[in-house]
Amino acid sequence: MKIVILDGYTENPGDLSWEGFERLGDLTVYDRTSPEDIIPRIGDAEIVIINKTPLRAETFAACPQIKYVGVLATGYDVVDIEAAKSAGVVVTNIPTYGTAAVAQYVFALLLEICHHVEHHNRAVHEGRWTANPDFCFWDYPLIELAGKTMGIIGFGRIGQNTAKIAAAMGMDVLAYDEYPNDAGKELGKYVSLDELLAKSDVISLHCPLLPSTKGIINKETIGKMKDGVILINTSRGPLIVEEDLKEALDSGKVYAAAVDVVSKEPIEADNPLLSAKNCIITPHIAWAAKESRERLMNIAVANLEAFLKGSPQNVVNK
Ligand code: NAD
Repeated sequence: MKIVILDGYTENPGDLSWEGFERLGDLTVYDRTSPEDIIPRIGDAEIVIINKTPLRAETFAACPQIKYVGVLATGYDVVDIEAAKSAGVVVTNIPTYGTAAVAQYVFALLLEICHHVEHHNRAVHEGRWTANPDFCFWDYPLIELAGKTMGIIGFGRIGQNTAKIAAAMGMDVLAYDEYPNDAGKELGKYVSLDELLAKSDVISLHCPLLPSTKGIINKETIGKMKDGVILINTSRGPLIVEEDLKEALDSGKVYAAAVDVVSKEPIEADNPLLSAKNCIITPHIAWAAKESRERLMNIAVANLEAFLKGSPQNVVNK
């Protein structure tokens, strides 16, 4: 059984092992694959593993021997699942693996805004403390979170984990979700989107990207926020109208923002957030802690194993 992994690098840049897949078949791993190489590299393999490499109808038409596609991610929009279904191909995903890591990362971003640890560390190493007349100095307003309100838009797995950390920091939690649930009621107060926007000191986005959530942060919704609000986005870039956020950051309406995701990734050189005031941008790494990737790898191997045993799990195109 030939197994081909078309873009394995982001899941395993070298600190994990592909051994689990090696046990299951004759494995070939590519770090990344450009569109013109997809079909030749699949060749006669029956098992195809991908992360973000698109598999469209023409791929399934050109490689009719494919039996299984394993996506190394939660989102599987890179696969034409209808075409896969018509071709009799089982497609699986990893429904959850990075909840703890993403919630932790929200606070990595938020605490950076509150304290600018790296800036002050660098200033000390550059000699500023040695030459300082006082026993301390700081270059940004330092912010205490206790007593402040965190508004969480999308109160699912990651949103609720974020709420637990916020509560541990002494923050009050407001949540907006189209589908409130009992677990959420224990962790925060469900309110309307307008109430959340009006009352939150920090707003963190955790809803999926859907037609109903695209551009949910825009000129109008920003206008409803408190002056000096902090915005965190570890969910999906297109939730924010980036031109509107830049304007709000530059005017000070939004005090600071930190985003791990942007509208087009990798970020384009003319993305308005690159020149916005007080905007931290990281390259979509909230999910990528080694522990998360290890969990993802184990589930991906278990998915293939279950398929080979005739009882597939985490199938997205039943
Ligand atoms: P989840 O499905 O558990 O939670 C999403 C929540 O959003 C659900 O409770 C759902 O009811 C709610 N929701 C749906 N439509 C809504 C709407 N219109 N308005 C408000 N809420 C709405 O998902 P999760 O595991 O918590 O992941 C959340 C998001 O985080 C994912 O969709 C993904 O985009 C993102 N993510 C990012 C990274 C990263 O590395 N930056 C990693 C993993 C996930």
